Amino acid sequence: MVMPPIKATKQMKKLMEDHFLGLAKAKEEGNPKVAWCTSVGPAELLHAMGFDVYFPENHGAMLGATRMATDLIPEAVAAGYSPEICSYLTSDVGSYLAGQTPLTRAYGLESVPRADVLVFNNNQCREVQDWFMFYAREWDVPLVGINNPRVIHEVKESHVADVKSQMHDMIPVLEQVSGNKFDIDRFREVVGLSKQCTIRWRKVLEGAAHHPSPMTFFDHCIHMAPAVVLRGKQEAVDYYDLLLAEIDQMVQDQVAAVPGEQVRLYWDGMPVWGRLRMLSELLNELQAPIVSSTYCNSWIFDALDERDPFDSMARAALELFNVRDDDFKEGYVKEWVERCGVAGIIFHDAKTCPYNTNSRFAMPQRLSQELGLPTLVINGDLNDLRFFSDEQAKTNIEAFVEQLLEQAA
Ligand code: SF4
Repeated sequence: MVMPPIKATKQMKKLMEDHFLGLAKAKEEGNPKVAWCTSVGPAELLHAMGFDVYFPENHGAMLGATRMATDLIPEAVAAGYSPEICSYLTSDVGSYLAGQTPLTRAYGLESVPRADVLVFNNNQCREVQDWFMFYAREWDVPLVGINNPRVIHEVKESHVADVKSQMHDMIPVLEQVSGNKFDIDRFREVVGLSKQCTIRWRKVLEGAAHHPSPMTFFDHCIHMAPAVVLRGKQEAVDYYDLLLAEIDQMVQDQVAAVPGEQVRLYWDGMPVWGRLRMLSELLNELQAPIVSSTYCNSWIFDALDERDPFDSMARAALELFNVRDDDFKEGYVKEWVERCGVAGIIFHDAKTCPYNTNSRFAMPQRLSQELGLPTLVINGDLNDLRFFSDEQAKTNIEAFVEQLLEQAA
């Protein structure tokens, strides 16, 4: 049985179109200036400084989802970038070198918007810095960023002070490029909007605690787009109000994203963008929805607080799952597994993203023991489908769900 699409999707597509067309117009008119930002970087500060903000990882995901990545990665490899490093980076750089982008088909745009400044936070990985460095060299534009502490158990005041001071250090460059003076009231306003967005996005994800779940991980991967690229803007807040109203109605009407759900799963790691549909259809058939994931939860920034925007943004960057040690991560996964009534965990070992892969240091074994739940590790990648075998994934997932059903019987 195929469920009717979520109605809010139409509005989300419109928002994304407006986002990209707005960036193209900004480039055409030279105003506002365009800042590139990493997906969990200081976007709020950039909005407050009057930039239009573009997120290359979103473009990376589009390259994966359209499977253009497969043909474009070799372009970056030929330019000296290893096929073993982040395939967002290699597919995005390859896309630039080949002069091809999914934005052409989707929105009629010839290229991604050229950056006036590149801003990273390497809290998620070191790759983002090298990725942005490519464009900084190519276009001779400033690159600024935050070198975030990593693998931390407890966020300490010294960590917060460090990140805060690096944010302050960026302001003179941002003022120079944007031509605008930093305004603390505007910054508070943007952080306040981002907070409103994050509260709503958390509620969307917590909706999966309901039985049956109104949405799956695959729906979350689509509907997270405003939380990533429009956080800090009123449009994102309004969008999640619309989506939440629809989810509430679905919950009242007992609408299941996967009719007849039998067992519920958790996904840890990056999505396999080029195989979302195949995996979604497989799990629909097996009546085993993935209801929660570490990945989609990564855009919940509980710490944000407009009363102390620098401090709270630094904390949000430091509290990120990716930045933490395994002890913290295991506690976090446990909390969501219990909240959502999950029977088994799938770990995606993404070949080119060790940072978002948590299966390499025995976490599946430890969690399995602690929670009394089976775990499965599947090999693959976010964008590079050479590392993903449809047959192998299908066989392993089918056997895993069968095991869960036997245990449940
Ligand atoms: S976190 Fe992983 S997928 Fe994201 S930019 Fe870094 S290496 Fe690439």
